[in-house]
Amino acid sequence: MQISEIFYSIQGEGINIGKPAIFLRLAGCHLRCTWCDTKYTWDLKSGKNMTTNEIIKEIKKHPCKHLVITGGEPLIQQNALIDLLKHLKKYYIEIETSGSLPTHLNDYIDNYNCSPKLGNSKNRNIKLEEFPEEKTNYKFVVDKNSDLKEIKEFIRKHRLPKKNVQLMPQGVKKRELAKKSEWLAEICKKENFRFTPRLHINLWGNKRKK
Ligand code: SF4
Repeated sequence: MQISEIFYSIQGEGINIGKPAIFLRLAGCHLRCTWCDTKYTWDLKSGKNMTTNEIIKEIKKHPCKHLVITGGEPLIQQNALIDLLKHLKKYYIEIETSGSLPTHLNDYIDNYNCSPKLGNSKNRNIKLEEFPEEKTNYKFVVDKNSDLKEIKEFIRKHRLPKKNVQLMPQGVKKRELAKKSEWLAEICKKENFRFTPRLHINLWGNKRKK
């Protein structure tokens, strides 16, 4: 598998925010979001080639059983992931995906953190694939007022349960994020959406973990 990085940290977004977790970041992404904060993962070849055993050895160095598989777009390497996940049945497995590729991982995943890309990402014609309702949370990155209209249409079109939807402010710099968070929190109150911060940016800024 092509691995960008493996590190131990705190989940900074979504329904498991605040929990200590091991992050397995896979290389490769077929999208090109303008505000992407992990552009270094885009090229599959940018990753280090690691065997299943090497990855397991790294994961087991850390004192928790919560694994967040992220990217890039981790579903690009899902066939190889199945072999890894068969060895990690005692772990809570969360995967972060754009939702634009079909998944074959339902038997192995406890939570899909699905982040469908809106017009503000400047990608075009992205399809939302099917994910199991009971295991999927939809996190929308919100940059400006007009995104709200698009999100509401998207939720209606795909019949997403509102309880599974979270709105997250766009921003990779602490000050920019604080301003957008205040603005978005008010919108969440008014429109009854769940708000998710970007805790890791608040804590550490947009620094790459080593
Ligand atoms: S899907 Fe994720 S990794 Fe890919 S370009 Fe968008 S933000 Fe970056």
